[in-house]
Amino acid sequence: MTQTANASVSAGSEGSGHAKATVVTRFAPSPSGHLHVGGARTALFCWAFAKGRGGKFLLRIEDTDQKRSSDAASVGFLKDLEWLGIRWDEGPEYKAPDGSTVGGGPHGPYFQSERLDLYNREIERLIAAGKAYYAFDTAEELDAKRKAAQAAKQPYRYDRAALALSKDEVEAKRKAGVPAVVRCKVPAGPITIQDEILGTVTLPDGEVDDFVIRKVDGFPTYHFAVVVDDEFMQVTHVLRAQEHFTNTAKHMVLQDHLGYRRPTYGHLPIITNPDGSKMSKRDKDKTLRAAVQAKGLTAPPAGIANLDVAAWTKWLGDKNVQLDIEVANALAAALDVALPEINVDDFKRSGYLPGVLSNFLALNGWSPGENREKFDLAFIREHFNLDRVQKTPAKFDRVKLLAFNCDAITALPREDYVRLVRAHGERYYPEFLTKLTPDQFRMLADASHERSKTLDDLYRSNRWVVVTDEALVWEDSKNVKKAVVDKSADGSPSGLERLRAVRPLLEGVTDWTASSIEAAVKTYADAHCEGNLGKVAQPLRVGVTGGTVSPPIFDTLAILGKASTLRRLDRCLEHFAR
Ligand code: GLU
Repeated sequence: MTQTANASVSAGSEGSGHAKATVVTRFAPSPSGHLHVGGARTALFCWAFAKGRGGKFLLRIEDTDQKRSSDAASVGFLKDLEWLGIRWDEGPEYKAPDGSTVGGGPHGPYFQSERLDLYNREIERLIAAGKAYYAFDTAEELDAKRKAAQAAKQPYRYDRAALALSKDEVEAKRKAGVPAVVRCKVPAGPITIQDEILGTVTLPDGEVDDFVIRKVDGFPTYHFAVVVDDEFMQVTHVLRAQEHFTNTAKHMVLQDHLGYRRPTYGHLPIITNPDGSKMSKRDKDKTLRAAVQAKGLTAPPAGIANLDVAAWTKWLGDKNVQLDIEVANALAAALDVALPEINVDDFKRSGYLPGVLSNFLALNGWSPGENREKFDLAFIREHFNLDRVQKTPAKFDRVKLLAFNCDAITALPREDYVRLVRAHGERYYPEFLTKLTPDQFRMLADASHERSKTLDDLYRSNRWVVVTDEALVWEDSKNVKKAVVDKSADGSPSGLERLRAVRPLLEGVTDWTASSIEAAVKTYADAHCEGNLGKVAQPLRVGVTGGTVSPPIFDTLAILGKASTLRRLDRCLEHFAR
């Protein structure tokens, strides 16, 4: 079967009939989980490109792949975008935390699964025009042909077997309910893609075969739905990941068949780990496997839902098996390891500020020039352009991101830090907020602000706040020993001896505030260590927190309260006396 000769199709740039149209971009995620940083970067660039040109940014949920989609996932996406400060002018309606409604608009519905009538109408139009056709090949038949091509070292292309059927035969099969897909009839000739980032690329004749546009289950394929929606939603600029570059050829064929406009294309470089590997959820499993190995664990830690011995063994034995995200998080907590962040929600959970993440994401593939690295969303919106988008993959530098976040957190006015760190705790560490009074929390926040790289640091480094007095354990470390056990060379008392002497003074403090505690300890220091409070501070710190790092010691004791302080000191004296 020969293909009908046809002029080659080529993608126009600004000049394809809609140069004066309002810029409309869209972000079109498939809701297959949380919003990946790569997707977030695409959304950010689409948003900035449109908003910086007085245009519209649209959000569309591509949920035609029934196996992967879920409503919960798309809600997660909406939240993640909104958290980053990326609001869509059109798209699914979403109630933002500030009470305003985001989305809606005249081109809905914005879930592809609700637009099937439109797709079917357009597919019928193509079939009637002879530009698409039913194909009844079974999966086995196609598989055999694919394997034969492979064996012959030939690229597989659909052979148009379905076109050998007569019109009557096709109708009879349709009537009998034989499962069928619909394929697009791709004209012969090279296809030239004009890309605003990658330049002009021509795919040779035969590169694109007659691809499926409607699946057996009646749903359109991604290729078909995306082309119809971009037309009906009046999208002018398609900015998306480079992995879609060759798909663009298919989309152009469909646009020509259907008599649609040609949007301007720009394909964005992918974001990778520093070693060039794909940033994927697998990185979490990799981190967990390494931690399990380092700790020499042979069985799953107790109490993790859905992780029994069978699941554990399967996961450890097969690198391709991934744990569910909840299971992975629970295992990470049990092993006390931090998982690499992959999705926007992971960064939120780790205590990154949304403005820092969007700033950093923008630098993954774009730069405003003049070595400028720190900027906010308004700056991105004003300055983002396609000329400065790089072609090569962008390496995601976590160390730099953390440094950016640290700078931003320490630069926050104190009140803002307290508000944000409290909100973070309400969400992820409610046990801290039930344990502490507002004043105690404030004291902890004041003491933590300057040392924090993330909003999570306060909670991760102050577990002593929530651990019960009876469950407190002392770090088995040189520094801890030095603070409480070791005798100094000059024969002065050890930390434990000092604790024993200070304890009754603390017991005598009636109003348990940082300054009264300090006064009591000072009495001891004046008498026994020439007023050097530091000699008592570190043993006290170890005594009540189990380690050598905490906020200023008198704040620490005030936050803890008198009863807990005395109980912990007693346990410490007992523990090290053994
Ligand atoms: N649903 C596609 C994805 O998530 C969208 C691709 C496009 O923007 O055309 O990758």
